[in-house]
Amino acid sequence: MTGDSTRSVHEAEPFDEATGSITVPIYEASTFGFSKAERVPKVVGGEPGYVYSRWDNPTVVTLEKKLAAMEHGEDGAGFSSGMAAISTSIFSFLKKGSHVLGIKDLYGGTYALIHDILPEIGFETDLVETTDFGALERGIRKSTGIVYLESPTNPTLKLVDIQRAAKLAHSNGAMLMVDNTFASPINQNPMDLGADVVLHSVTKYINGHADLIAGAAVASKDASHKIKMMRRDFGGTLDPLPAWLILRGMKTMALRVRQQNATAMVLAEFLSTHRKVSAVHYPGLKAHPQHQLAKKQMRGFGGMLSFEVKGTTRDAMKFTESLKVATLAASLGGVETLVSQPYNMTHTQLSAKEREATGIPETLVRVSVGIEDQEDLVDDFRRALAAV
Ligand code: PLP
Repeated sequence: MTGDSTRSVHEAEPFDEATGSITVPIYEASTFGFSKAERVPKVVGGEPGYVYSRWDNPTVVTLEKKLAAMEHGEDGAGFSSGMAAISTSIFSFLKKGSHVLGIKDLYGGTYALIHDILPEIGFETDLVETTDFGALERGIRKSTGIVYLESPTNPTLKLVDIQRAAKLAHSNGAMLMVDNTFASPINQNPMDLGADVVLHSVTKYINGHADLIAGAAVASKDASHKIKMMRRDFGGTLDPLPAWLILRGMKTMALRVRQQNATAMVLAEFLSTHRKVSAVHYPGLKAHPQHQLAKKQMRGFGGMLSFEVKGTTRDAMKFTESLKVATLAASLGGVETLVSQPYNMTHTQLSAKEREATGIPETLVRVSVGIEDQEDLVDDFRRALAAV
């Protein structure tokens, strides 16, 4: 199985000879019984089998295998949220004295974890300018254990050269972790570029239907095992019911994401020529400062874009209120188009000065493009801009 759609439909879900079911059951069990006592120490010691659903659950394991196949890794771990996946994975590889190096444009929760929480408990961390690779090179130290990236970034769609970052990290004995939420496994596979751990807010494109919160880490067999052992004790495990809903959502991921890529391009081009728009950030546009890098490391440019409304914060608010098809809401990656004003919604963990410095003015509007018809969305945006 090599194609993304074939994998997302069939991987890890073989035909069930016993029942003929073409989908995996939802194993709603907190614990698993044994008929032979001698099996207990063997399964507890790592032989195939199930003990307790905070450790492993068959429905969740099916999802983990499918996700690993989609991200070209060997195994994965499902989590109750993207932040549980990110924090547990970071803690899985931190050692006494480890330094963590990242970029400034991280998702708010990850930013708070690396910028505030880790230093409070004694770890040294640095977050450097996202688009200045030299800053990463200068920032790496002998003690750097983890280099942490997002590409494209939220909400300004900046990119980092993942392959170069992997070489830099590895030549210094560090590992590279990449949050691939914005691109989705359909548009980019960081492990092919050298990343050691790929992280997802599964809440977004992978589930795709804005109806649950989940996360995942994908990595080599050994690294996944380490992350799963930490998950047992930190406890941010995924439940079987949301895991099953995600498996269902994933089957249309390639169809959804390719449609979202195409519509985002149409919207970005429309906005680029609009007189009430002062800037558009979309890696698929030739005018994007890192368009060549996007072409090199992404197969599609994604369904996320952001743009600046000419005028004041009130004008941007007026625009978001005037939309009829798109909805003003946080989150992203679902079938419905959502818009947000990152300055006062998703990025309030950053000070006003930090928001301005990372290119998040009050007039910035982030768009998560859904699967609605392109003409309906362009009309909606045209009408809402006319109301500003
Ligand atoms: N990473 C990125 C890029 C995100 O956008 C988000 C949430 O918006 C997260 C991580 C956190 O994921 P979750 O909300 O599922 O915990």
